[in-house]
Amino acid sequence: MQKQQHIIEESLKAVMEDESFLPNLQAQTREQAYKSLCALLSTPNHIHKSFLRVTLENGTIVRIPAFRVQHSDTLGPYKGGIRFHETVNEEEVSNLAKLMTLKNALHELPFGGGKGGVIINPKEYSIKELNLICKKYVQYFNDILGPDKDIPAPDVGTGEREMDWMMGEYKNTHPGRIYRNSFTGKSIVNGGSLGRREATGKGVYFTFRYMMHNYLNENEKALKETDNIFAKTALEHADRKLTMAVQGFGNLGSVAALEAYQCSHLQNKIVAVSDHNVMLYHEDGLDIPGLVKFTKEHDGDLPTNQEELDEYDIKAEVKERDDLLALDVDVLLLAALEDQIHKENMEDIQAKLIIEGANGPITEEADRYLADKGVLIVPDILANAGGVIVSYYEWVQGRDTQFMTEEEVYKRLFDKMRGTMDTILPQFFGDPFPLRQNCYIHSVMKLSTIMYRQGKLY
Ligand code: GLU
Repeated sequence: MQKQQHIIEESLKAVMEDESFLPNLQAQTREQAYKSLCALLSTPNHIHKSFLRVTLENGTIVRIPAFRVQHSDTLGPYKGGIRFHETVNEEEVSNLAKLMTLKNALHELPFGGGKGGVIINPKEYSIKELNLICKKYVQYFNDILGPDKDIPAPDVGTGEREMDWMMGEYKNTHPGRIYRNSFTGKSIVNGGSLGRREATGKGVYFTFRYMMHNYLNENEKALKETDNIFAKTALEHADRKLTMAVQGFGNLGSVAALEAYQCSHLQNKIVAVSDHNVMLYHEDGLDIPGLVKFTKEHDGDLPTNQEELDEYDIKAEVKERDDLLALDVDVLLLAALEDQIHKENMEDIQAKLIIEGANGPITEEADRYLADKGVLIVPDILANAGGVIVSYYEWVQGRDTQFMTEEEVYKRLFDKMRGTMDTILPQFFGDPFPLRQNCYIHSVMKLSTIMYRQGKLY
């Protein structure tokens, strides 16, 4: 996945060249500040690692590797999900923690960045075993977690059930302490926020729609006059029927696809979706509500054969999963895992617009290759922040025990995302950097300023 190192350094250089950043700094001190900031932003504050000792139902004792990486607390307590996946590792968790720092800074949330990981395939464990793994995770990382220290949330392989269990264990191990906002992404009955489950998917589609419709329409004249290659790509796709392919049909991909489907007045058409088994394709557009119903009734999996499709009256061809990325579509929505577009397949990509729903789905090399071709990539830290934004509302609601309606949550979510885009987009379309770089510059500027003000650069 994107290691961010290179792009963080480039962003820092741009920040240092900006005269509004620390205007009174002399050249030598500026150079020192640059080096210090590079070191501070590219390494995590802490890597916590442990082996969870778990007794399986058959009596076997296993040791499961688990991590919590706390990247930065410059803007507030560490915040980020816990991933349960068999390929997760320390380096990946560290990179994901760094992304959280940048994401939270970009959207002006009062959180730092962190991430957790447990190396398991959750589908291979019973409910009782998973419950035990969650409890052990909290017990092992007991001292470093808490509402004002580090607040985990769901990520790949975890959801409200796991957050409920973990909060329950936090409550047991911290008697008499405030516990409701120690975890976010919990179920509603357990103090979760309405709309949290859908927030990432809804936010992803909102980001795309706002940029491609509202923003482009309002600024069309000015954008036509810039020579920014990405503005050209955007304008070529504005106000016309767009075809879209969605990689990943879990909580993120399915919600974002449903949003796109329901915005039928925009006439966008989802011609393909895929999951870990198959790709489904229909050139006139797929029946997304039908597929959502199917996945709900089949443990999250898409139909894999004609019989299953017929049973739900869904028109589609079953195709090879990995062919989705090379389809001749206008928009690719990446909602699976990291490193999906890389050196080997980057030349096959035909879409001119790519939205990163997942964290880090494009490798650094592929990112540069696509940007050079004028492909407009809406980066993860901009597009997929809906989850952590509503996590913030959940954290506040948990503390105050005052709960917002779903309508209020979405209104605040979209206002927040619109606010970020209104800051970023004018800058982006006005200069030659890709959108990712603009977002990073904004985050790095914010973090550097706070670190300087808090005296961390001495
Ligand atoms: N795992 C999500 C993310 O990558 C949500 C994190 C959170 O809510 O803290 O943004």
